[in-house]
Amino acid sequence: MGLEFFNTMERQVMPFESIRPGEVGMYTCGPTVYNYAHIGNFRAYMFEDLLRRTLEFFGYRVRQVMNLTDVDDKTIRDSRAAGIPLREFTAKFKKAFFEDLKTLNIEPAEVYPAATDHVPQMIRLIEILMEKGFAYQAEDKSVYFSIDKFADYGKLAKIDRENQRSGVRISTDEYAKDSVADFALWKAWDELDGDVVWDSPWGKGRPGWHIECSAMSTEYLGESFDIHTGGIDNMFPHHEDEIAQSEAATGKKWVNYWLHCAHLMVDGEKMSKSLGNFYTLRDLTTKGWKGREIRWVLIGAHYRKKLNFTLDSLGQARETLTRFDEFFDRMRAIAKTGDGTEALEAVSAASDAFAKAMADDLNISEALAAMFELLRAGNRLADEETLSNAGAERILDAFRKFDTVIGALEVDVIRSSEFPPEVVKLAEERKAARLAKNFAASDRLRDEIARLGYVVEDQPKQEYRLKKA
Ligand SMILES: [Zn+2]
Repeated sequence: MGLEFFNTMERQVMPFESIRPGEVGMYTCGPTVYNYAHIGNFRAYMFEDLLRRTLEFFGYRVRQVMNLTDVDDKTIRDSRAAGIPLREFTAKFKKAFFEDLKTLNIEPAEVYPAATDHVPQMIRLIEILMEKGFAYQAEDKSVYFSIDKFADYGKLAKIDRENQRSGVRISTDEYAKDSVADFALWKAWDELDGDVVWDSPWGKGRPGWHIECSAMSTEYLGESFDIHTGGIDNMFPHHEDEIAQSEAATGKKWVNYWLHCAHLMVDGEKMSKSLGNFYTLRDLTTKGWKGREIRWVLIGAHYRKKLNFTLDSLGQARETLTRFDEFFDRMRAIAKTGDGTEALEAVSAASDAFAKAMADDLNISEALAAMFELLRAGNRLADEETLSNAGAERILDAFRKFDTVIGALEVDVIRSSEFPPEVVKLAEERKAARLAKNFAASDRLRDEIARLGYVVEDQPKQEYRLKKA
């Protein structure tokens, strides 16, 4: 089945063809590690995970590179405000970021290059831009990209070249579309940078934000690659500037498909600290929400539509996932006994519909509809007592395959109703011991449970989950 994606560069849905058959090189603008990532950030990382898993579902081998911006205006500003050296300051948030990815069951990228480990590559790229006449050093000693020299500037964000202000420079990493200007590739040291400084042919300083992505994508994916993703707010200036730097340096088309995801809203409004609707992932898990519930909400809307996040939607996700949990329990129970129909038609209809939906620019609502259809069909056959164990197993298999993309179903997690009573009793005793902070007893009970062939995994809020060892 052919995959189709909406390519922002062309403003239309297009058939996807990779440069090398069966392989996809994908670059994703990663976090700026100056704080805990919020759920708006995670909406973008979730979309990228869904994209990656869908490519894998269709048999592609994906090489994904996600950068970590650990030097830029914001990391320097906040590390100085905190009085902590930049490297130490960002290390804390890098670690938190990887923990958060795990909580949300986001598949790891193949490479997570950190900007501070790639400054020589950035300097080399700026040297090439200088040699080719696309960059210049200004009186302030910083090096700028001259957008007048690059005829394609503005092609992604569709900027009107007529109204560009020739020779105007901007040194901040982020700026609005109406302040289109020559942007900084290398920023000369100033006292606000403190001890964050590298030597370069243009004197002491540090790289601009945009050059990080151009240098690191080339390092790990080559001069041209298949897909570049990000949130729509990064399209300008960040992605526009990335294109200018990369294509001016190589003279080649840099990226074949640009995929951007829309904003996340909370309670119908833009998320902001002042409105009190600002959530990091940790704010939600502390309230007792599970990673899979948050994941379910974040993948629930098509990536090019605004997603309205509410606490109610988390409650609905919990209900829906419980319904799936109970369904899998029921199918497993049937797998043990009985003979009859094998659910061939229901499974193949749902599988076809799911694949067709995801191939169509990640049409998640159609894909979820196919899953619900199979759930209803399975329950109907079970109600009629006509489902065979082979049929139930086939249905479970279909959901295992769906979950390679969805990543939230836990098809094979056995819930406590199916465990031997003595194992459940020990697990309950252990929960009580943990609540009483009697960790010696808790460890002893864990070992006893293990001897009976089960594993107990701790969950938030003193809950636990049992698994067969
Ligand atoms: Zn980037």
